[in-house]
Amino acid sequence: MVSDCVFCRIVRREIPAQILLETEEVLAFKDINPVAPIHIVLIPKKHIGSVMDPQLPALPPLTAELFAAIQQLMGEEKDGFRVVINRGPNAGESVPHLHLHLLGGRELAWPPG
Ligand code: 5GP
Ligand code: ZN
Repeated sequence: MVSDCVFCRIVRREIPAQILLETEEVLAFKDINPVAPIHIVLIPKKHIGSVMDPQLPALPPLTAELFAAIQQLMGEEKDGFRVVINRGPNAGESVPHLHLHLLGGRELAWPPG
């Protein structure tokens, strides 16, 4: 089934995005509304609804490629960076396709939000 979610449409190149990395399993692109000088969205190319999707723990190639992509994309950020997954309304999740935010390029407050 073809998903019409916004990130699936970016994967299919139906919506333009500034793509930074693509592998067999994952895609990374610049966030359209960046909250830091570096704000990258990293997603599985396959539609996975959220971090709570029950099939996720059984997809080792995907989880390996997500972590490999983080290292490749953020390897030069010697001052540090943050990886965020928002889940549910309290966290402000707005797109129902698993995505990791990679944030860097400035000091990031803790605790967040
Ligand atoms: P969430 O709020 O679900 O954690 O994160 C969704 C993120 O996707 C937001 O930071 C939002 O700016 C980004 N986003 C939503 N639609 C698009 C789009 O069409 N293109 C790009 N590049 N980013 C998007
Ligand atoms: Zn999707």
